[in-house]
Amino acid sequence: MRLTIAKTRKGLSGRVLKALYKRALERTIAYAAPAWWTGTVNQCNKITSIQRQILLAVTGAFRTTSTAALHVISGIEPIDLILEMESVIYRAKQGEHIPSFLGKDLYQNNIEVFTNHWHHPGSISPPRWSSGNTQAAFAIYTDGSKINNQVGAAFCTFGPDGDGEHLYRLNDHCSVFQAELTALHQALRWKKTNWPGEQCHIFSDSLSSLKAINKLRPKNNLVEEVRNLCDNSTSLHWVKAHIGVAGNEAADRAAKRASEKPDIDIHLGVPERSFRTTLRKLLHAEWQIRWNTDRNGRFTQQLFKEVKPSRCISNTYISQLVTNHGLCPQYLKRFNLKNCNCRCGEDTQDDVPHYVFSCPLTSHLRTSIKRDTRISQILADRRLETEVLQILRYVYHQQDSIFELVD
Ligand SMILES: [Zn+2]
Repeated sequence: MRLTIAKTRKGLSGRVLKALYKRALERTIAYAAPAWWTGTVNQCNKITSIQRQILLAVTGAFRTTSTAALHVISGIEPIDLILEMESVIYRAKQGEHIPSFLGKDLYQNNIEVFTNHWHHPGSISPPRWSSGNTQAAFAIYTDGSKINNQVGAAFCTFGPDGDGEHLYRLNDHCSVFQAELTALHQALRWKKTNWPGEQCHIFSDSLSSLKAINKLRPKNNLVEEVRNLCDNSTSLHWVKAHIGVAGNEAADRAAKRASEKPDIDIHLGVPERSFRTTLRKLLHAEWQIRWNTDRNGRFTQQLFKEVKPSRCISNTYISQLVTNHGLCPQYLKRFNLKNCNCRCGEDTQDDVPHYVFSCPLTSHLRTSIKRDTRISQILADRRLETEVLQILRYVYHQQDSIFELVD
C-alpha cells in the first residue's frame, strides 16, 4: 500500500490533515475493522506503519522520530487501540457480553441493542405532534430526569376519573433521552390498557424524543415501541419546560422523585454513546501508560507528560524542536549521516535546542528567546514560535558554514 499525502507549504495544513484523517480515513478503517482486526502483533505493526505516514505528514516531523512521540505531538491515538475499541463496540452491538476492555473491567457492558424490525413502507405513518398547547379533557404529562447520577421517568395523568401519577426508576447508566422516551412509552401503554379509544393528549418537554419518534426510520427500539403504541386516539405535543405549565411541573417533580426510589423498576441497556465514552477513557488511560513506559521519545516526554487528543503540533520546525529530531550535528552523527560538530566551538550537545537557545552563530536571530526560555513558553507565544522558525530555517540554509566536518 502506498500513501501519498498532500502537504506542502501551499497545501493542507497539519491541522486540516488531522481532521480529515480523524473524520474520513480513520472512520473508514474502523468501520471495516470488525471484519479483519484480530489484534495480532503482525496486524498491529502493519496498520501502525500505515498510520505513521499520516502522523509524519500532520506534524512535519523528521522521519526518524519515534511513532510514540508522533502520536503524542499530533494528538492522534494509536490506531491499534482505536481498532480494538471499534471491534468491541461492534461485538457489543451484536448483543455479545463484553466483560473487559484493554484489561480493565467493564461495569456497564450490556449495550442498548437495536434490532431492526422491518416495516413495509406503506405501513409507516409517523405520529404527528404539535408544539401547540391544547385544552384537553384527557391529558398526560411525561418527563424524565437524571440527578445525582440517578435516573427517573414519570407521567402524570389528568383523566376522566381524576388525576394520577406513575413513577419508574431506571438504571443509573441511562441517559435523560432514554428516561424521556420511557416516560412516553409507559404513558402510552397505560393509556392503551385503561382507556383504549379515548381521545388523549400526551405532553413531553423533550424535543429530541419527539423528533426521534417522528423520524421515518428510527434506529432505536424504544422509539419504535413508542411509535407502535401511537394510534388515532392519541396525539403528542411538545410543551416548553419551566414556564409554569402545571401538568409539566407535576411530571417534572414526579420524575425527580422517581429517580430517588430505592429500587430499579425498568432495566435498559447502556446507550451506545456512553459506552463509547467509557471505552474512550480506558483507551486514553492505556495510551498514557504506553507513553509513560515507552523507551523512545524521552526528550518529548519531558515536555509533554500527558497524552491529549486536543494537542496538534503541525509546524515542521516546532515538531523538530519538541522531538529534538532536526538538522543538527547531533542528529547527523546519531544516524551516521555526517560526522560533524558545530563551528561555534561551544562543544555542547549540538542538538536542536542548542541552535534555538544558545549557539552564537544564530544569536543575531534571537531577540525574545533567551538561554533560559523554556520550550513550553515558546509553544504558548506566537512571537517566540516565529523566532524558532527563522533560526531553524537559517540553520538549514547555512548548514555548510555552521557544521564543521570532523575527519
Ligand atoms: Zn553552535
